[in-house]
Amino acid sequence: MDKDLQGKTALVTGAASGIGRAVALLYGQHGANVMVSDIDEEQGRQVVAELTAAGANARFYKADVGDPAQCHQLVQETVAAFGTLDVACNNAGITGELSLTADYSLEGWQKIINVNLNSVFFCLKYELEVMLKQGHGAIINMASILGQVGTPTLAGYVAAKHAVVGLTQTAAQEYAAQGVRINAVGPGYIDTPLLKDFSAKTKQALVALHPIGRLGRSEEVAELVIWLSSDKASFVTGAYYPVDGGYLAK
Ligand code: NAD
Repeated sequence: MDKDLQGKTALVTGAASGIGRAVALLYGQHGANVMVSDIDEEQGRQVVAELTAAGANARFYKADVGDPAQCHQLVQETVAAFGTLDVACNNAGITGELSLTADYSLEGWQKIINVNLNSVFFCLKYELEVMLKQGHGAIINMASILGQVGTPTLAGYVAAKHAVVGLTQTAAQEYAAQGVRINAVGPGYIDTPLLKDFSAKTKQALVALHPIGRLGRSEEVAELVIWLSSDKASFVTGAYYPVDGGYLAK
């Protein structure tokens, strides 16, 4: 167990499922107070129940990260519930439309940019307000391997994730001297409900893109998030860390 997360407050968006759920559960195992946030209230409350059953201090707050007012309220509710905000994992995201670029709908473009990029800016902005006053904090933004390379039919997703990496690098430089570290994590394909619209054949083709020979597990991403959240990563900021079974090494 990582003692330096003991008693700290951790906020996770998109925490009802997949990677966010694994991150929230692992923060709890490391002794952090956990604010579980999602638009899916039923599943989100289920994660809080799991955390509570395991002895952790956890709350749920429903927030749509595409709405800046709800992101602001989420941060305020976290501080009201636990007194501080020490670490935040801006994780909520969707796949969005699967279309060639020329066919990508304007509505689909606005949606993916709002949910996968604007959301990270909204959360970051309000998390920073609190962390800069405290003089410390660690923020982990969930990017993707597709924040470094492109792939057909996912223009909106790829554009949003590249921008999340750039936003991370910029904000990290701005606040490094004030005690706030900001990093991005880039998972390869992880077997979560995010891939539910992909056929078995497509999933098999995705496996072949990872030299390790399988899709990743949410817990494998969560371990990296925990390390970046802890003081063990005290000299790490503005970085992009792949956790991708070798995908980007090819
Ligand atoms: P998931 O679908 O299992 O979980 C995503 C969660 O985000 C869900 O609980 C969903 O309700 C929530 N969410 C969606 N829109 C929201 C909104 N507007 N406001 C608040 N919550 C919202 O997906 P996952 O695979 O765990 O993905 C988590 C993050 O990891 C995403 O940012 C995704 O882009 C990224 N990622 C996933 C993979 C992968 O292969 N699964 C790979 C790289 C990056």
